[in-house]
Amino acid sequence: MAAQGFDGVERRGLMFVLSSPSGAGKTTLSRMLLEREPGLKMSVSATTRPMRPGEVEGRDYFFVDKQKFETMVQQGDLLEWATVFDNLYGTPRAPVEAALSVGQDVLFDIDWQGTQQLHQKASADVVRVFILPPSAADLEKRLHTRAQDSEDVIRGRMNRATHELSHWAEYDYIVVNQNVDDAFAEVQSILKAERLKRERRTGLTEFVRNLQRQLEK
Ligand code: 5GP
Repeated sequence: MAAQGFDGVERRGLMFVLSSPSGAGKTTLSRMLLEREPGLKMSVSATTRPMRPGEVEGRDYFFVDKQKFETMVQQGDLLEWATVFDNLYGTPRAPVEAALSVGQDVLFDIDWQGTQQLHQKASADVVRVFILPPSAADLEKRLHTRAQDSEDVIRGRMNRATHELSHWAEYDYIVVNQNVDDAFAEVQSILKAERLKRERRTGLTEFVRNLQRQLEK
């Protein structure tokens, strides 16, 4: 089964990647997208990092120990994986393949390392969006407001942001999150436009043939 637009034309599902330095608002944008785009399903990653307050097993992450993670890598259960802030993060393969096969689009909140791996494996089906904070001060403020991490962790994330930002040119779209509603509208427009791309609309040939048949009558 393939996904269908409002017009009923079938298409392949797509892999929609959102990356950014932590604190740029990516999690909020992902939640907004999932709420408003029923055809989109979140890929829930596995990670060895400890659970943060408010996080839920199986919703935010699958929290696993290092040994379990390494077994998943060895068994080929992960579509991509990477070390981020000294912890391991990876995308379980089976749920993504299951979602795409029934025509759902899949949303990924993964870093640049994972994005590169996904792109190497399935470039035609991957749409890469990078979210930038409007300023360093804004990024720091958001990391503090989130109140989930210690000062040390926040400092580490700020330092790492410089490195993460350097990968901006590996993405198809760049959104500056000055205001969350505007950034959301931009991200949603990207998704809508990508869904209309001719190459992934497998039902178009048949659709146009039908149109021609009707015209010839
Ligand atoms: P956090 O610990 O703040 O939830 O995530 C830290 C970073 O890891 C974020 O940049 C996030 O995008 C990235 N990340 C989360 N899951 C995955 C994954 O499955 N693969 C990769 N490569 N990165 C991930």
